[in-house]
Amino acid sequence: MIAAGTPTIDDMVFGARQRLARQIAIAAENAQFDLVGAFRIARARLNLPHLIVGNAPWFRLPEFMRCPECGGRLGAKLCDVDPDTGIPRRAGQCTFCIHDMAERSLARITDTAPTSAHDYLPVVWRFTWWLTDEWIFHNVRVAP
Ligand SMILES: [Zn+2]
Repeated sequence: MIAAGTPTIDDMVFGARQRLARQIAIAAENAQFDLVGAFRIARARLNLPHLIVGNAPWFRLPEFMRCPECGGRLGAKLCDVDPDTGIPRRAGQCTFCIHDMAERSLARITDTAPTSAHDYLPVVWRFTWWLTDEWIFHNVRVAP
């Protein structure tokens, strides 16, 4: 007879899966952040210029940074840039899912509901915003 409060095999498997999923998520976030650092170092070592953004309303981010809701490509708009240096200010950018934006545009044009509207909840997007903010700060400059 199993005592009350004793976890069942199913409870233990469920718990183990939850812990494993969390560990994988942490490892994936660490790997992405390491890639941002490696990208910056490689760009400096190879003497590559910054990505220059002029009057573009938005630009695509590198493929290794992905939408946390659907895995699609990300785009960014710069909203706050130092006018003297062209360096984007930290947290002065808006990152969005290109797939989601396309869905919303199509829905607006066809007067229908978007099929894959994202929630952009901070709890889901916090790491992605931090990651893209870091990448943009180090690699993007705005032409005067
Ligand atoms: Zn998405």
